[in-house]
Amino acid sequence: MKNLIVITGASSGIGRATAKKFSSEGYPLLLIARRLDAMLDLRLPNTLCKSVDVSDIPNLKSAVGAAEAEYGLVDLLVNNAGYMNLESTAIQSPIEWQKQFDVNCVGLLNMTSVIFPRMIERKGGTIVNIGSTAGKNTSEFHTAYNGTKFAVHAMTEALRREGQPHKVRVSLVAPGLTETDLSSGTNNLNILNDREEYKANIGGALNAETVAEAILFIYQQPHNVCIRDLTIAPTGQIA
Ligand code: NDP
Repeated sequence: MKNLIVITGASSGIGRATAKKFSSEGYPLLLIARRLDAMLDLRLPNTLCKSVDVSDIPNLKSAVGAAEAEYGLVDLLVNNAGYMNLESTAIQSPIEWQKQFDVNCVGLLNMTSVIFPRMIERKGGTIVNIGSTAGKNTSEFHTAYNGTKFAVHAMTEALRREGQPHKVRVSLVAPGLTETDLSSGTNNLNILNDREEYKANIGGALNAETVAEAILFIYQQPHNVCIRDLTIAPTGQIA
């Protein structure tokens, strides 16, 4: 059997597409998100689905332990779980910016803290963090979200330095606008309408499958090849 792949945020969007892609290539999977049914509905073979919040380190640890007992050591971690609430900072609830940092940044570190030390120990493995073009360019009403994604990019660069002496590869995939449920975290209808209008003007968003293929491409390079940063966006999107 091929090596075990762990994907967070696998119940929808990019994570779900990545789970289907890797499964179609024969990899056993550990899928993590809060909505268990959405992951079970995929009916993927050799796949353990665990309902865990990325804030919950003990349950992240036991999910990884259960998957490794069945499928062997984790060889790829895709830190994908994310949350976005677009709003004017003047009126955004502190709960909303806290939640974005908790999921997008602290959750990523939590999951990394479970798997990275074991990769160091066995001198191998790959971590792919999902950043964003919002981690490279700022936009109005994206202040907290931009902050989280710039942080993801910085953490990815820094983690690569820590992984390098131990042959642990660390990569960033920075997608542009992608058709998923990510907008469902935003309630402001004016901002949502502007986002839809922008999407139409640039000729539509990427499919989540396109991002999944990019992740697979990075992972399937020989281990001495590290694609450090893969930015992938609709041709019509410029920033
Ligand atoms: P979706 O909203 O479709 O998926 C988000 C996933 O994250 C869901 O599976 C959700 O599962 C999971 N998630 C959210 N909060 C938690 C939590 N506390 N614990 C565990 N899992 C959680 O959005 P996308 O697929 O678009 O998002 C995936 C990643 O891609 C995110 O990091 C996002 O920032 C990034 N991205 C998206 C872009 C886009 O345009 N769509 C562009 C650039 C980057 P559940 O609710 O079941 O817990």
